[in-house]
Amino acid sequence: MYKIDNEIYRSGSENEGVLGELSVGMNPRQLEALSTTEGPLLIMAGAGSGKTRVVTHRIAYLIKGKYVQPWRILAITFTNKAAREMRERVGDLLGGAAQDVWISTFHAMCVRMLRRDAEKIGFTSNFSILDPAEQKSVLKGVIKRLNYDEKMISPKTAINKISDAKNNLVGVAEYKAIYGRQPIMEKYAAVYAGYQAELVRNNSMDFDDLIMNVIKLFKLHPEVLEHYQDKFDYIHVDEYQDTNDAQYNLVKSLADKKQNICVVGDADQSIYAWRGANMNNILNFEKDYPAAKVVLLEQNYRSTKNILDVANCVIKNNKKRKDKALWTDRVAGDKVVSMHVKDERDEGRFIIEKIQECLASGKHSLRDFAVLYRTNAQSRTVEEMLIKSNIPYRIVGGHKFYDRKEIKDIIAYLKVLVNPADSISLNRIINVPKRAIGATSVSKLNEFAAAYDESVYNIMANALPTGVSAKLANTLGALRATFENWKTKAQDLSLTETVQTLIKESGYEAELKRENTIESQARIENLEEFLSVTKEFDKRTDETVDGLERISDFLNDVSLMSEIDNVVDGQEVVLMTMHAAKGLEFPVVFIAGVEENIFPSGMALNENGQEGLEEERRLAYVGITRAERELYLLHAGTRMLYGRTQFNPPSRFISEIDRELLDAPGSSPSGIRIGKAKPVETKETKAKAEVDWAVGDIVVHKRFGEGEVIEVTADDMTELLVEFPDQGQKRLLAELAPISKK
Ligand code: ATP
Ligand code: MG
Repeated sequence: MYKIDNEIYRSGSENEGVLGELSVGMNPRQLEALSTTEGPLLIMAGAGSGKTRVVTHRIAYLIKGKYVQPWRILAITFTNKAAREMRERVGDLLGGAAQDVWISTFHAMCVRMLRRDAEKIGFTSNFSILDPAEQKSVLKGVIKRLNYDEKMISPKTAINKISDAKNNLVGVAEYKAIYGRQPIMEKYAAVYAGYQAELVRNNSMDFDDLIMNVIKLFKLHPEVLEHYQDKFDYIHVDEYQDTNDAQYNLVKSLADKKQNICVVGDADQSIYAWRGANMNNILNFEKDYPAAKVVLLEQNYRSTKNILDVANCVIKNNKKRKDKALWTDRVAGDKVVSMHVKDERDEGRFIIEKIQECLASGKHSLRDFAVLYRTNAQSRTVEEMLIKSNIPYRIVGGHKFYDRKEIKDIIAYLKVLVNPADSISLNRIINVPKRAIGATSVSKLNEFAAAYDESVYNIMANALPTGVSAKLANTLGALRATFENWKTKAQDLSLTETVQTLIKESGYEAELKRENTIESQARIENLEEFLSVTKEFDKRTDETVDGLERISDFLNDVSLMSEIDNVVDGQEVVLMTMHAAKGLEFPVVFIAGVEENIFPSGMALNENGQEGLEEERRLAYVGITRAERELYLLHAGTRMLYGRTQFNPPSRFISEIDRELLDAPGSSPSGIRIGKAKPVETKETKAKAEVDWAVGDIVVHKRFGEGEVIEVTADDMTELLVEFPDQGQKRLLAELAPISKK
């Protein structure tokens, strides 16, 4: 293996032989992308064309061929799993030097930057990161304090509105300036302000803050931005089509000085608009960087020709896209199977039988199969059948280990150790296990803390003035002293030892043992499982670093874990949503529930009209292109979902596929139309299609209430842009949305 030695880094010199070495297994276009190291570069290409692979090789080339120091290279990926894989692959190409390259997700990169400089923007470096459940509980508190009715101003809507604002870089003051005078929005502006103040007081940030606060840091302290601009000579972003405006801004400022920015993506795979992703970021790259070189990769190495043709058939129906050619020299392969089944149980049965058949043939192992679906709720039936058939499986993004109560509790203990200002975590465990600290006393503490702008932790030292009894004040003082003691001890302990100390000395484990139920036993087992996680972490960390700092690092890891990260490449069939499958590949793929209303999702169409439909179609493209050799598209005549029986015709996406590419054994029964793509026509939609819409019409929507039509676009279907007073603008398909004309 090539050994990197610090001494050989000389800028400007080049090791020509390396390009030759790395070019093995690369086509000429890929090679061009790999060797274009200077200036802005856009690699725009379809699925499975080796985009991610080019980034990996490019990093190796920079280090090995161009003698760039590894720590001067930044690569941003979409998930931690992708980051880990990229690090491994660069490692395979290079050896040890891969460790020093900054390969991480946006969020992990921001945490790293904030740990260094959080003081500059009013936090300390050991700030806590809130998960969605904690966000919700803070918001409930804020809404209550403002005396708003939760039915009018719901925490869930508030979370979305605040997240949207942050993704668009709209701070509290600006939000108030924009919305402060609108009837309901004014209340949300107040909630946003209250929420943000509460986070600052708790020395805490939510996920969106991580990005927004780095941008703030760069703005207020240009010298910090300059430090990173100087540090990173080369910047890479994979899956660039799914960046939101805040992330876009961040990348742009980092690359501003040297302009060595390489972005990689596929506009056809942009599937996160609902979370603020902006596809225009990739489409406008050449405008942003006029000197940009563009490399288009057109050869797909992942899928058989039939699968690829099916993907192309579907995606070409999107109007808002640049057409591109994607081809393969792989064999045509099996036809894609479009299977009509009776109901969701038949669907599950079919999947199990196919898996068993493939396994019996000896051509496949368990890890070769993926079952994909539109929403998590669809996994249940397949899961039940896998259990009955004794087939090992793993659900990605189902009930997460870290969402369990006991795991959250122990994490809250750790958070308080490193960030005593985190009253959100302290409140969670102040009376867990039971210490006779009642809810009323806890509110007294919190009110007092809020009034004096102090943390609950500090108030505990002397709680008498808050109005609690002398006995309770004693308990609180003693608890605080115990925490202080744990803190001191933790400095010299491994994470595992600290966690063991906490579980034992807090009385947490003892309480579970006393309970002695099946449930409490399971909780104890989960805590044991947690210790295996901490042991893994301890193995990876440097013991000379202060124990509290190591706990901080661990908590970061836990917070940043995304749903895709618990895919272990073990011997299991995996089940996940198509969103979670982005970037992955499997020899055999089943897509379940390829039915109207489910996929495309009825909700996406109702709320976002043509744009919603196009995003669903991109999702179909992502799903189809995960398959290497075999692909099954399943649709059921009836389906029980969310407790209701649905009768959905096969998805329009199926009818968009050329018939000769499909093997459609179950699709002949009467009543199943496979033909031109067109929405399901019911009496209702027919009547609606006859309504003439004009700008200025008043619409009554089942959920959004009354709104005014501000734009009408008539194409295959009529699309309306409607302004609703509380919901803002929505694009609706007149024929499909639950609307009527007033
Ligand atoms: P996606 O759009 O799904 O993220 P991608 O464009 O990033 O896909 P990769 O995941 O990098 O594609 O590559 C797809 C598959 O093709 C991988 O298994 C990769 O190893 C393989 N591959 C890429 N380029 C080549 C090549 N030149 N020769 C052989 N195999 C290749
Ligand atoms: Mg990729």
